[in-house]
Amino acid sequence: MSSAWCALSLLLVAAWAAPAAGPEVTIVEFTERGERKGTVTVEKIIKTDAEWQKILTPEQFAVTRRGGTECAFSGAFWKHHEKGIFRCVCCDTALFRSDDKFDSGTGWPSFFQPVAKENLELRTDTSHGMIRTEVRCRRCDAHLGHVFEDGPRPTGLRYCINSAALKFVRSR
Ligand SMILES: [Zn+2]
Repeated sequence: MSSAWCALSLLLVAAWAAPAAGPEVTIVEFTERGERKGTVTVEKIIKTDAEWQKILTPEQFAVTRRGGTECAFSGAFWKHHEKGIFRCVCCDTALFRSDDKFDSGTGWPSFFQPVAKENLELRTDTSHGMIRTEVRCRRCDAHLGHVFEDGPRPTGLRYCINSAALKFVRSR
């Protein structure tokens, strides 16, 4: 067999294995320990409701895929004080750190900044007769919560996030 034929068949295999090109996003990756690795361009994660329902609890689905809000003082993380990193419950993207968490008294986990602005998407939300800024996961569009301008120094921001949208990875 000629080497040209081998090269051609390798090319065909590569084309066959390549995933269908979808929308891409550039996010910042973090290690298990919460150390910043650098930016990476990845495909957006797009699933049907049925697919999300297979991997999420009903509450996680209602919050992240339907824009719901968990009851105050009910979630797993509003009074959670371990050291680590909070990731998207849907797609594992790193979102917040315990070092940036503060006690807002609202009953929802609150942070004064995200791990990386690139990992969030902010949208204007005019539901419920209010104008608010919605916070979503950049990679999978999960609804996380809202950001308000009444937070503590140094940013003055309060990212008010549903526990149901987060999974916690403890630093070792
Ligand atoms: Zn996500």
